[in-house]
Amino acid sequence: MAANRPLSKTFCEVCGQVFTPRDAMQTYQNRYFHPHCFCCASCGNSIAGKPFYPKPNNQFQCENCNNALAPVYEKKQQQRVYLIIFFFVLVVVFVIKRFNRVQKQNDFKNDIITATVFGTNSLF
Ligand SMILES: [Zn+2]
Ligand SMILES: [Zn+2]
Repeated sequence: MAANRPLSKTFCEVCGQVFTPRDAMQTYQNRYFHPHCFCCASCGNSIAGKPFYPKPNNQFQCENCNNALAPVYEKKQQQRVYLIIFFFVLVVVFVIKRFNRVQKQNDFKNDIITATVFGTNSLF
């Protein structure tokens, strides 16, 4: 906005040139850019006056590039969820099998105990 334009000499954050009174100015977090210098880090298109996404290392990304890259991230997240579900199912199957084996062993023990009891009973 022209009203917020600083009176002191200001440099463009990207090209380092001093702003002349005729230069258009894009400000972001007390930093100043030429509109043609305020560009998307991915496609290089100007993002002056457009929605953009701040990225690490003082870079910005336009909405298009952000949307284009977002599904890749979501897919990775989804794959991770599937992997967690897969391991969870594996653990559940393992626990059930183990439990069944212990149960069978217990049944077997019970059989022996019963047989012994029958045996002693038949002796007396
Ligand atoms: Zn510039
Ligand atoms: Zn872009």
